[in-house]
Amino acid sequence: MIGLQGIVKQFDGNTVLHGVDLAIPEGSVTSLIGPSGSGKSTLLRCVNLLEVPERGALQLGEVSVSFTGARLPAETLQQVRRQTGMVFQNFQLFPHRTALENVMEGLVTVQKWRRAQARERAMQLLEKVGMAAKADAWPATLSGGQQQRVAIARALAPSPRVLLCDEPTSALDPTLAGEVVDVLRALAAEGMTMLMATHDLRLAAAISQQVAFLENGALVEAGTPRQLFQASTHPRTAAFVSTLA
Ligand code: ATP
Ligand code: MG
Repeated sequence: MIGLQGIVKQFDGNTVLHGVDLAIPEGSVTSLIGPSGSGKSTLLRCVNLLEVPERGALQLGEVSVSFTGARLPAETLQQVRRQTGMVFQNFQLFPHRTALENVMEGLVTVQKWRRAQARERAMQLLEKVGMAAKADAWPATLSGGQQQRVAIARALAPSPRVLLCDEPTSALDPTLAGEVVDVLRALAAEGMTMLMATHDLRLAAAISQQVAFLENGALVEAGTPRQLFQASTHPRTAAFVSTLA
């Protein structure tokens, strides 16, 4: 179980998350939906501590962290980050590394794997995302969908407990988004735990077991896609869903 309790996040005294509680069952997919600025990306970034909340608690497997406003020990940051992989809207591949080197990089520099071993694991992952044939290609020569698939392989390299995806398809046209959705769906079918922020309600409904609706930094409602999209009794959820339907 990955758990967030009472997560409060402020920027310059402005509260952008107002005590969010969310349980993310392992082996399934949770999607975060909500208007622009509602705090989806910030909540994702609180799971890997790219942003450190002011208050609340995080459980990630055996690691529990309470946020008190005090600086976190470097070891805690490391323990949390080691268990998370992140995929960004705009891919963020290293431009001067080939596809294969992008996937190997963290294994070699952070995890201190031997290059030969890292290369082997990276090739397996490129195979998994359908990018083995482009192992030696530079990111700039790849389509957006191909770059995102390499980015997913890179995020999976250290075998994270949870894959965090921030709008993984929103920079892509529908065909290329489809390639990425297929990869995410295959990972979900294998039991990868994922937390994904998305504006695409169809994607959320297609691959998630749980959908959480955020508005103005507060979690309005979480439930199955069916509960949220078809049977919500919460007027805020119904209003949001109807704007996008
Ligand atoms: P979108 O759908 O547009 O991606 P979002 O739901 O991901 O939006 P966030 O990016 O999490 O929303 O932003 C939540 C709020 O926090 C916004 O008001 C935003 O301006 C603010 N915010 C986010 N990051 C920072 C930052 N680094 N410094 C100051 N304010 C920030
Ligand atoms: Mg965002």
